Amino acid sequence: MSTSTISGADVVRWIQEYASTIAENKDYLTQLDSAIGDADHGTNMNRGMSAVMEKLDGAAGEDVGGLLKTVGMTLVSKVGGAGGPLYGTLFMQMGAATAGKSELSIEDWAKAVDAGLKGVQARGKAEPGDKTMIDALTPAAEALSKAVAEDASLDDALSSATRAAEDGMKATIPLVARKGRASYLGERSAGHQDPGATSSFLLIKTAGETFKNSQD
Ligand code: ADP
Ligand code: MG
Repeated sequence: MSTSTISGADVVRWIQEYASTIAENKDYLTQLDSAIGDADHGTNMNRGMSAVMEKLDGAAGEDVGGLLKTVGMTLVSKVGGAGGPLYGTLFMQMGAATAGKSELSIEDWAKAVDAGLKGVQARGKAEPGDKTMIDALTPAAEALSKAVAEDASLDDALSSATRAAEDGMKATIPLVARKGRASYLGERSAGHQDPGATSSFLLIKTAGETFKNSQD
């Protein structure tokens, strides 16, 4: 039977799943970054998420906000470049939005993703269409808000967020980068998928998979 909540243990499983997905995609993310950046996005994210896994060892997820805040702070302290502080901010703001909660409704999840996105925007000043992680996160946050407004099921909300993030990620291919290292390439950045949008799609995708599979 399906339920409509995301438990704290589900959130822990999601972070674990994201860490292993990043490890599996480390070379792919770095390859994307070698085309329009400095070939370190996969290494950066993997270093950060490995440190997160050590930090979370034994966490049960009673405090979702505290857990997400710890993830964010670990990423900020372990990952250099643009990606570390931006992903750190994303998770810290998600943590602030879920402070004091031991489980999340779909509405809580939608608000958390939106708060994380707003944090990344406040920090990195990127707009949609600048060819950054924002381009995957914005459509995902919008899909979740829409699903909440339409009273959609958790499953449907998660699926539409994943589809939206994937479309947003693919839509970065023709874009000319206006933020981050890729912007130094100008027009030559067009024709390549943005690495950060790709890791952000994986973030939304793993959340969808984990939160759905937990419902039994
Ligand atoms: P660095 O660019 O310092 O090498 P990474 O390679 O880890 O850091 O991350 C690159 C990704 O960071 C880009 O693909 C892009 O999605 C994201 N990014 C860079 N600058 C910004 C920004 N100002 N706002 C949002 N995302 C950004
Ligand atoms: Mg890089």
